[in-house]
Amino acid sequence: MKCKTCRFIEHGIYFKQLPNGNLTVKHCCNMDSLPEENQPHLIEEYNGSAINWEKLFEKKRNERNKFRNGEYYDICKNCWELQEQDIDDEDYISHLTLAHITKCNSRCIYCFIGKDETQHNAPQQYRLLPLIKEMKDKNILRFTGSLRYMGGEPTLLKDFEEITDLFVENNIPEIYLPTSGIKLSDSMVRACRKVPNCCIYISIDSGCEETYKKIKRVDAYNLVLNSLKTYANANIMREHVISKYITVLGINDNFEEIDKWIADSKKAGLKMLAFDIEYSYVHDKSNEKFLKHLLKLRDYAEKQIIQADLKIDKYVPYIQMLQNWAIENKEKLENDFPKGSLTVSLKKMSNQAFEAYLNKIIEENSIWNKPELKLKASFIQKIFFKKYLKEIKYISEKYSFKTSFI
Ligand code: SF4
Repeated sequence: MKCKTCRFIEHGIYFKQLPNGNLTVKHCCNMDSLPEENQPHLIEEYNGSAINWEKLFEKKRNERNKFRNGEYYDICKNCWELQEQDIDDEDYISHLTLAHITKCNSRCIYCFIGKDETQHNAPQQYRLLPLIKEMKDKNILRFTGSLRYMGGEPTLLKDFEEITDLFVENNIPEIYLPTSGIKLSDSMVRACRKVPNCCIYISIDSGCEETYKKIKRVDAYNLVLNSLKTYANANIMREHVISKYITVLGINDNFEEIDKWIADSKKAGLKMLAFDIEYSYVHDKSNEKFLKHLLKLRDYAEKQIIQADLKIDKYVPYIQMLQNWAIENKEKLENDFPKGSLTVSLKKMSNQAFEAYLNKIIEENSIWNKPELKLKASFIQKIFFKKYLKEIKYISEKYSFKTSFI
């Protein structure tokens, strides 16, 4: 029998660590973005006592019946996991998702947990391997679906190697691992060789050591590049090892860095790249003024990736949101021409003063149809302060101003 439903609602379970070290148990990880009170928990807070599986499956049955009747959560309506699929009425788990959230070997500039001293690297209280073995022994767990890991850094999860090997030995067809790539996992190398759909995402976000350090705040660019290379060489489907580039304003939002990232990825033998933007640009209204700049970078990255004979991964959430923004504002983007012009003298003006000046004009003119800036620079400035002028060009691009020098 077929029905439009979600495989995680049908047969999924998601264990996630809470800040206090306890676990919470849900159907899928995407639901984390729903308000806490609207999230359908299977167990709100697991404190190490025995799980009442009958009660848990009763909750799953209720939820899956709602889905089968077309009652979806808002977040599910546009989710690519909501699909017409074969269903059965048995109670078992075939999709296991694990997230321990806090443990990490980097401290990315855009990570919420990394900013929170109480959560970053908070200890893991419960081991998941005994629970997984219990599920296997009770015939609750079937190895016909997927094993999925979520952040922090999954390879630091206690028993990560044993858990992964258990699934690989039992012929799981799908593994998903987002990882920093700093720690190369032997079990994941084995998974790459054996699991048909072994998908590994590594956010390297840079094309050199220096930029990597600024974003990740650890010195590990070459280690990560080596992990990408090792996983790609071992993978049955080389294009399932994906190097990701999350754009961060003021650090890696320029063509040169994108070029270096593509070149190093190609050298490492990768076939698929993912270009993304940092979360806050599509969630924080005050960052809307940067979206045109990010759109331009996205277009550039995609063109260069194709030119390098590599493929683009399209399942990148924030780029999809940026794309939606571009569709919603299609008319404005097409008719976004400078409204008049302003002459600005750069003499005695620092970059910071220029950036502050631009900010003021943006506030006065919205992000659309901003006036063209005619920058007045002396001959000497143009000749001897090339770096300064390059930075001004960058600032203008960031705010999507048309600029010219007079
Ligand atoms: S449809 Fe998407 S958001 Fe909804 S339960 Fe499935 S995976 Fe989660």
